Amino acid sequence: MIDPKVPSINLRPSDYVIIGGTGDLALRKIFPALFWRYLDGQITSDYRMAAAARREMSRADFAAMLRPFCEDAFGTGGASEDDWNGFLDLLSVITLDVSSGEGGDHLAAFISERSDPARPTIFYLAIAPSLFGDATRLLKANGLVTPQARLVVEKPLGHDGTSSRAINAELAEIFDESQIYRIDHYLGKETVQNLMALRFANVIFESLWNNNHIDHVQITVAETVGVDGRAGYYDRYGAIRDMVQNHLLQLVCLVAMEPPSFFDADQVRDEKLRVLRAIRPLTAADIQCGQYQEYTQELGEASDTETFVAMKLAIDNWRWAGVPFYIRTGKKLARRASEIVITFKQRPHDIFERNGGGAIDSPPNRLIIRLQPSEGLRLQLISKEPGPGGMRLFPSELNLSFDDTFESRLPDAYERLLMDTARGNQTLFMRRDEVFAAWDIIDPVMALIADRTPHLYRSGTMGPADELLGTDGRIWVDPHD
Ligand code: NAP
Repeated sequence: MIDPKVPSINLRPSDYVIIGGTGDLALRKIFPALFWRYLDGQITSDYRMAAAARREMSRADFAAMLRPFCEDAFGTGGASEDDWNGFLDLLSVITLDVSSGEGGDHLAAFISERSDPARPTIFYLAIAPSLFGDATRLLKANGLVTPQARLVVEKPLGHDGTSSRAINAELAEIFDESQIYRIDHYLGKETVQNLMALRFANVIFESLWNNNHIDHVQITVAETVGVDGRAGYYDRYGAIRDMVQNHLLQLVCLVAMEPPSFFDADQVRDEKLRVLRAIRPLTAADIQCGQYQEYTQELGEASDTETFVAMKLAIDNWRWAGVPFYIRTGKKLARRASEIVITFKQRPHDIFERNGGGAIDSPPNRLIIRLQPSEGLRLQLISKEPGPGGMRLFPSELNLSFDDTFESRLPDAYERLLMDTARGNQTLFMRRDEVFAAWDIIDPVMALIADRTPHLYRSGTMGPADELLGTDGRIWVDPHD
């Protein structure tokens, strides 16, 4: 067993200001992540945190609201009441309306009370993107946009390329690109980072990582839930804008990118950008959309919004010429799982065929990278069945389950990403040109499907995308438990 508990890497203590600190994102993800980092000793008593929102609230009321979202830290994490009280001591609640500007002076007063004026201040905009402009202008008007200020924003950064450029231009008026951290929480997942370690810290895979050896790549991000009360929001986006434009294309980039010279934010992002720019424009035949049968009933009106999409991508460069990347994502599918499956080419010749090894029908080697749940890697190999009964072959697996390998819990993606904002490390955050390049792929896709009615699919299936691979003589590798 390996204990990955982070020895408290010395970080300069920082201030976290969560604007929209009473909202769903802040309560479910951001503050619990900060609490876990506090429990692990990475956030020390020198840090400060503030939840800023319009509604007036005492710290005790805020703590009562937040507590249920931190319950698993008390259960499995062993947090005590002392830990909780120590964490709350670092927390302030600030009444702030970014639209009217009211409360900006309170925020400025909070910031000015810091002991070290050079410490990083992280402003996390957990508010609707339509308020980003107001929020950044408020920060500027109150003298809070200093060189050590950092701005964190979340998707959706726009609805298409045009709106995304408009939102990002608003941010750029006030903050330098080096201060902007665009979160794609998929990039904070341990296995996603491990994908880079797997590829670039080992020689065995990288030497096979090309069209000489890889037949195709599949990426599946499957959810079992439906739109659950978010139908109004979801209907304006759909699976392509909500999932493909950001998470799935980022995963494609990490699988397909060339090795950067150094593990440095801009070098990694340069390489990802090259992949996005090498993706061939899709045709209508490359896209399959679906909608689960109960969707319009849940929405309360007719809609052609896709709750499922599968796409076949071609990457036009030497490494990947001829290797399709099939991606799919959807709601109300058979199981919740995110997996990247690298399928290697079949053996060029089968020496076992003549003596009845049955190897001809056996599956090719596959590397399966599981992002959720239970993060880990599996390598599918062909082995000999033990015993004297001749050369009988069977598919076997080398399994590296992170749950079994590491003693303590794997941190949530937000924990890693929040600490990276304090570190000033932008490697796992999307740069503006990446976001635009992704929209340059997605905008034409949306135009191609504009007049299409998605195929209805039954909940609990894996969606209507068999044909997309079937015509290429391939099948989906479904995640299993
Ligand atoms: P939410 O639950 O509606 O929360 C919105 C927050 O914004 C509340 O704290 C609200 O505070 C605050 N707020 C609204 N108007 C404000 C104003 N004029 N000045 C200051 N604060 C204001 O929304 P959410 O789900 O947390 O989402 C926040 C953002 O994150 C959105 O852009 C969303 O798309 C994005 N996001 C959310 C999730 C998620 O899991 N929820 C995931 C990814 C991205 P009061 O109403 O108390 O004033």
